[in-house]
Amino acid sequence: MIRREIRIPPEYVYPADDWRLLEKRFYPRLLAQTETLFSLSNGYLGMRGNCEEGRPVFQRGTFVNGFHETWPIVYAEEAFGFARMGQTIVNVTDSKIIRLYVDDEPFYLPTANLLRFERVLDMRAGTLDRDILWETPSGKRISIKSRRLVSFQHRHLAAISYQVTVLNAKAPVVISSEMVTEQSSQTSGGDPRRARGFEHRVLLPKGNYARDHRIGLSYVTNNSKMTMACSIEHAVETTCPYSYQSRCSDDAGQVVFSVDAQEEKPFQLIKYMTYHTSRSATTEELSQRAERTLDRALGHGFDELLAGQQEYLDDFWRRSDVEFQGAHSKAQQLIRWNLFQIIQASGRAEGAGIPAKGLTGLGYEGHYFWDTEIYILPFLMYTAPRIAKNLLKFRHSMLDKARQRAREVNQKGALFPWRTINGEEASAYYAAGTAQYHINADIMYGLKKYVEVTGDEAFLHEEGAEMLVETARLWNDLGFYSKRKGGKFCIHGVTGPDEYNTVVNNNTFTNLMARENLRYAATTVESLRKEHPERFAALVDKTGVDMAEVEEWKRAADMMYIPFDWKARIHPQDDSFLDKEAWDFKNTPPDKYPLLLYHHPLVIYRHAVIKQADIVLAMFLLGQEFSPQQKKRNFDYYDPLTTGDSSLSACIQTILASEIGYTEQALEYLRYAVLMDLADIAGNVQDGIHIASIGGTWMAAVYGLAGMRDYGGQMSFNPRPLPGGMKRIRFPLTIRGQVLEVNIERESVTYSLREGDGLVFRYGDEEIRLSPDARSAVRPLLKPKRGKRKPKRR
Ligand code: BGC
Repeated sequence: MIRREIRIPPEYVYPADDWRLLEKRFYPRLLAQTETLFSLSNGYLGMRGNCEEGRPVFQRGTFVNGFHETWPIVYAEEAFGFARMGQTIVNVTDSKIIRLYVDDEPFYLPTANLLRFERVLDMRAGTLDRDILWETPSGKRISIKSRRLVSFQHRHLAAISYQVTVLNAKAPVVISSEMVTEQSSQTSGGDPRRARGFEHRVLLPKGNYARDHRIGLSYVTNNSKMTMACSIEHAVETTCPYSYQSRCSDDAGQVVFSVDAQEEKPFQLIKYMTYHTSRSATTEELSQRAERTLDRALGHGFDELLAGQQEYLDDFWRRSDVEFQGAHSKAQQLIRWNLFQIIQASGRAEGAGIPAKGLTGLGYEGHYFWDTEIYILPFLMYTAPRIAKNLLKFRHSMLDKARQRAREVNQKGALFPWRTINGEEASAYYAAGTAQYHINADIMYGLKKYVEVTGDEAFLHEEGAEMLVETARLWNDLGFYSKRKGGKFCIHGVTGPDEYNTVVNNNTFTNLMARENLRYAATTVESLRKEHPERFAALVDKTGVDMAEVEEWKRAADMMYIPFDWKARIHPQDDSFLDKEAWDFKNTPPDKYPLLLYHHPLVIYRHAVIKQADIVLAMFLLGQEFSPQQKKRNFDYYDPLTTGDSSLSACIQTILASEIGYTEQALEYLRYAVLMDLADIAGNVQDGIHIASIGGTWMAAVYGLAGMRDYGGQMSFNPRPLPGGMKRIRFPLTIRGQVLEVNIERESVTYSLREGDGLVFRYGDEEIRLSPDARSAVRPLLKPKRGKRKPKRR
């Protein structure tokens, strides 16, 4: 039960529109939030929705995925094996600033007399557009139209078209196009979810130049020694006379256009911005790459960039749109905004992961967590398998560091870092960090599902198998056969997904997921040996795996201890959870959540209170391991104890509530998931979006409302009658290269094979086969199972 209220922004703040998030007025009080919500990104380069004029600003933000600084973690009390180096994404040079002066008066949004203001995040075009009519104190009317994009086609490139027209007079207009490198002034303010500030200078200047309309700056980071070149270039279209001057220094560059603006004659500036980063290339080399990107951009022009953006997004929406009809007037907009964030966070990530905040803010320091494999990968594998594969490949590229990390914590095999950018563990708080060994199983779960959905066995055999061997080794080494537990295989001293119960024994989620990991490793190695001896030989060469250890994994999996309490007939979250003191929910007012900001961790840890879905998540990921009765009892028991203090909860609760038949509750959780950022439910959207919850929104629709399950590669659907006046939900799924469209209406559901030769899946108890001869099947909706909610305990 989520303890926070949803305060939906009133209709006039973000009016309903199916394809656009828009504002019709400038609300200074929402500045910090809208900077995040109107961000643009392509997965490599991200820019917060800061206004072009550079002010007012809550947090300037330009981020390059993976571009980070390191710093030594200082512990007051040292211990063996602690993570040594912190990693923080760098807020890099802000190149999107375009200041405007008319009659030498600056245009400043909060005080300007705005006759018209509209700002639009256009999710089909992939642009951030602004249309403003400003009346200066002397009565001059200035039209300002801007359009910004971060290109999906050219991942190093962003551009702004900025057009100024004086409508009723002549006037001297100055447009100063700038780039500024600022040391981030952000500090965490005691909130562990925010990024730290730096005391040292992070970006050391390596060069700068101003040439004609073009400016380039380059840097190397102080500790991590990463290099970056950032350059800007301009093109002008106007019939107004103008001149310009360029200058630059270590930390800033400026091209200032002085325009003799004529009545109704537009002055249009196109600004191109490029970023190139590297772990090894010199800044000279990067500057040359930046030159080439700008030359190309200039050659193609802004319209071609726009067309390319549109093409990329047309393709994205064709493969991924979830159509929602008839519920709340904004439902469609909300769901699309969420989907759009996923492509923004992942589209061109290539060789990097997905930070917990995408590239929209400094929260969680730009780190990659399990959010990627458990919350975002499902959407990607069913809509953009290539991107899903890139993310798994990226994990594979960190395998050596994971091997090394396993040694540091005295274990065999490999241990993936709980949070990281460069592959090393960056979590300074082991209880809620390193102890989350489940990350290993989460990644392998993502791999298994990816292989089942795409049929990409080559990837499984090449990269996947190696990760499976090393992760299985870790589990086999970490657990032990406990006499007190009847010789069962137990895993002690770990933290499950729920970070309010840490360093526990036999976290049920972890044990179930580890078992899955061990089994998948064993079957993969066995089938390689039998069916692909060459690939098997390569695997042996890389890992030294032998069949005796495979037998050990199988034994550990078969003997895995899965806690169950026969009295309460539920799965305890871990060995000690059921003995814990009840949390006093009654006397905890809504403004004292999240609990982690108001209570010492020990207070939280000794109580039966849950941050986020844990058993409930296991019942979704490994639903085949639980009977329907167990699911209901577990849900009834854990749901009231779950605060939803993590945004990773509501979407999963939607799925389980739907399955059990708690339709209204499911709808309520769905609202939390969909509105997590747009209604700022967690209260920290200013620091960035919550990408896991966003991926979870898609899961809530597809696995929740549409009742899809895909255990062991077997697809099935049990769609629920659409809740809350919803008329239709329609979405495509790509499965082994074929495209299935699911269309649920009030009375019936239609499954259509849009592309491909044939698909088989279950619908309730029936098997449906689609083929080129029978491309679609229409069925009446299944009768709902009505779940009766137990009275709330508290
Ligand atoms: C959650 C983690 C999650 C992280 C990043 C934390 O609050 O408890 O499960 O991985 O946020 O999103």
